[in-house]
Amino acid sequence: MKKILLLLLVCLLGSCGKVAPPSFSEQNGKVKVLSTTAIIDDLVGTIGGDEIDHISLIMGDLDPHSYELVKGDDEKFLGADIIFFNGLGLEHGASLRRQLESHPRAIGLGDLLYHKDPTPFVIVDEVLDPHFWMDIALFSKVIDPIVEMLSEKDPSHRTLFLERGERLKKEMISKDQKLLEEIHLIPPEKRYLVSSHDAFHYFAKKYLSEPGEENWMDRFIAPEGLAPDGQMSILDIQEVSDFLCEHRIHVVFPETNINQDALKKIVSICREKGLHVKIASTPLYGDTMGGRGTGAESYLKMIEHNVQTLSSQLAEES
Ligand SMILES: [Zn+2]
Repeated sequence: MKKILLLLLVCLLGSCGKVAPPSFSEQNGKVKVLSTTAIIDDLVGTIGGDEIDHISLIMGDLDPHSYELVKGDDEKFLGADIIFFNGLGLEHGASLRRQLESHPRAIGLGDLLYHKDPTPFVIVDEVLDPHFWMDIALFSKVIDPIVEMLSEKDPSHRTLFLERGERLKKEMISKDQKLLEEIHLIPPEKRYLVSSHDAFHYFAKKYLSEPGEENWMDRFIAPEGLAPDGQMSILDIQEVSDFLCEHRIHVVFPETNINQDALKKIVSICREKGLHVKIASTPLYGDTMGGRGTGAESYLKMIEHNVQTLSSQLAEES
């Protein structure tokens, strides 16, 4: 009861979500898993179920690219038996990067896959693109290392972790195909995406392009680079408005955790050129998932939300 009151007090003081749930520091025999992003934590929770305690470090709409450690985060790292992070340069806030690089129990899931086989990974302007969760089938490859690590820490539940991992893999592969079919109902000449930052290259390669399309990179453009904290120039804005004119695209998509200033500028430049472009009323999820009640509160629901938002908006344009 004391613990519940304490948690309520913390929530009222406005820092709810920054504290680990009491079970994370409790010696209850369960494996404690800390994941940097809610997207990874969602998969870990599905595989580990009630047999583990799991939390994500970066919550809500916070930007995973630039996240810096805050008060209380050190305790989460100390209490964790396993730390999963995205890697591929996603978590580049200096304090978090230092912690992940020096921590003996931290596993970069993207890095692990990249070192096994770099072929499916995307390079943008000579930089490795970290947003590989945007391709569901590719992201499903993180399931095996998660199952393996959980089983190593808790061999008594190995069979359960394996079963859940296999089930999740099947669900992800089937969703991957279903969404691919859904988005391909949009004719190829309309399957172009403009969003706030460079989060959708994997998405464009997998879902927007035609099979074997060589120039799949031309399916997507954004004014801000791989991390939304990067610098943006007037040339970037110009390039995006040229792209919209070239492909006669009438809608641009904001992202939930990024301000719309750049998109507004683009829309006004296009209008000066005589092309009517609107900002979609429903934003896409680039780097985060939705909170409870948004319909995007799990990894797969978040991707599905993006596909449905794109399908309805792109298809309606003429
Ligand atoms: Zn991003």
